[in-house]
Amino acid sequence: MPSGKINVSVENIFPLIKKFLYSDHEIFLRELVSNATDATLKLQHLVSVGEIKEDIGDPIIEIKIDKKGKRLHILDQGIGMTETEIKKYINEVAFSGAEDFLEKYKDADKDSGIIGHFGLGFYSSFMVADKVEIISKSHKDEPGVHWSCDGTPKFTLKKSKRQERGTEIILHIADDSKEFLDDSRIRELLNKYNKFMPVPIKFGTRKEALPKPEDAKPEDPAPTKEVDDIINNPTPAWTKKPAKLKDEDYNAFYKELYPMQFEEPLFNIHLNVDYPFNLTGILYFPRLSQDLNIQKDRIQLYQNQVFITDNVENIVPEFLTMLRGVIDSPDIPLNVSRSYLQADGAVKKISSYITRKVADKLNSLFKKDREDFEKKWNDIKIVIEYGMLTEDKFFEKAEKFALYPTVDGSYYTLSEFKEKISANQTDKNDKLVVLYASDSEAQHSYIEAAKAKGYEVLLMDSPIISHLVQKLESANEKLTFARVDADNLDKLIQKEESQPSKLSDEETDKLKTQLEEVIGEKGLVLQLEPMDSKGAPFIITEPEFMRRMKEMQQTGGGGMFGMGQMPEMYNLVVNTNHELVNEILNTRTAKKRERLINQSLDLARLSKGLLKGEALTAFINRSYDMIK
Ligand code: ADP
Repeated sequence: MPSGKINVSVENIFPLIKKFLYSDHEIFLRELVSNATDATLKLQHLVSVGEIKEDIGDPIIEIKIDKKGKRLHILDQGIGMTETEIKKYINEVAFSGAEDFLEKYKDADKDSGIIGHFGLGFYSSFMVADKVEIISKSHKDEPGVHWSCDGTPKFTLKKSKRQERGTEIILHIADDSKEFLDDSRIRELLNKYNKFMPVPIKFGTRKEALPKPEDAKPEDPAPTKEVDDIINNPTPAWTKKPAKLKDEDYNAFYKELYPMQFEEPLFNIHLNVDYPFNLTGILYFPRLSQDLNIQKDRIQLYQNQVFITDNVENIVPEFLTMLRGVIDSPDIPLNVSRSYLQADGAVKKISSYITRKVADKLNSLFKKDREDFEKKWNDIKIVIEYGMLTEDKFFEKAEKFALYPTVDGSYYTLSEFKEKISANQTDKNDKLVVLYASDSEAQHSYIEAAKAKGYEVLLMDSPIISHLVQKLESANEKLTFARVDADNLDKLIQKEESQPSKLSDEETDKLKTQLEEVIGEKGLVLQLEPMDSKGAPFIITEPEFMRRMKEMQQTGGGGMFGMGQMPEMYNLVVNTNHELVNEILNTRTAKKRERLINQSLDLARLSKGLLKGEALTAFINRSYDMIK
């Protein structure tokens, strides 16, 4: 009986493998099933090129648990190995792979470094087994072989009586890995890693209902038969040609991927490229609002239909990690650190390809059925707006399909909107002024005031909107954004006929003094403006720039940190053309005047949502006193 010692420099590699990959022991099964799959596909290839003439039937892979014997069996009907091949592939190739792995792993930054799911191959079985046997019979006319190794570099190799082509791997499960003798644990792993592998995988049997015989009584149970329990779908949707798939097929696959998702996706994007890298996949836009499964149901990364991870950070651009679906690419290096991944050329290309495809799809959906696109806008805007902010390429493309809804529910692209307001909404520097509201309830009186003047107001209510507005301004020189409560509109938007003042200069000065006496200490910047007499008498505004900076700070803007908390800053704009203001001016008793000013100020605060707590209670009490 030939036996030998595997030639390694590290005397005892197995304890090291075990230790290094502690949290990832479960991947051994993925590795062994992958090998079984490769062996099967190689056999099918040899048949297809005519090198094997006999009928190979429909080969499957089988996983069996022998609880009593504490063994796990992985069987395939693939090409098998001869004695020479075992010596070469298992003793040498596989082993040098394991050594390579350790070499790389040693230097990697362990915590944030390696993507845990690294292809260690056959030797990962020693993470869970203290002895491994291979019984194999090659498709070639050579006797079967039986290899066995107990976790030291020593192995034995003898002839086996096995007649059927294929390989059986027997793992003698170690005491600290007994979980892998548990049916439900193995089923869970097969479902996680092998659900879409290309060769059918049998794990036990299940009962299948047969039609009832015609003479059966209603109370008779339906007859059943035992059938192989095949746990995978060897031809998942992403491996098929887009032209062969209908919407129903895409939706059905979504269900298959995320059995706990009850809502249908909004639309899908089929990825398919083979140059300069290989990548297939399907991405889905889910309805994102109020979805609790965002964290759980993520994009899954596969390599040749083998599940690798659902952490696609750095592979998919960040804004698209909110999507769902699968990406399958053999060209993504996995045995590397994250920082390497970020710098890797192939990964960069993949990431920008995905961005481009998503943008193109959005554009074609927009062009094909704009009405439908508008309906979906609310559910997809956060992804698109975030993408516009973080990916310049996407920003450029999004110009064509990014929508800007008005507070009245009409949707425009930015260029359409610019066109729409060009005659009516410009400032003194000839810039177009885009008025927007971030909350149509809270800013209601401001929106109404703007509409009364014939202005269009957009509803931009995403949490990141101040960042986006900033970005849009820097990309469009002739554009400025102002929230409806940012400034007094008459001053902001230059009309040809500016409002003449009804007060003389002396009267204005007198009013100013009167107002300052009452509101002097309240932290408001007083602005007296001759405005439309039909507008509000007192308006509180919040300078656009200050507010935007403050919001950007809160939502984490680049470069905004370390600036300290931005102060609150409000203006009190007093409309000197308003009747009430005139009354204030002409009220003789200081007490009555003070009351008018305070009441007006509180009303202005109320409409800006600033009146709260004690001040609100005082206002309410004062108002009752006035009307009783
Ligand atoms: P890799 O699969 O990455 O090449 P492995 O260590 O998993 O590395 O396997 C080493 C080699 O052993 C494989 O390339 C293959 O030639 C051979 N091998 C492993 N498992 C099987 C199997 N079930 N049937 C046939 N050959 C196998």
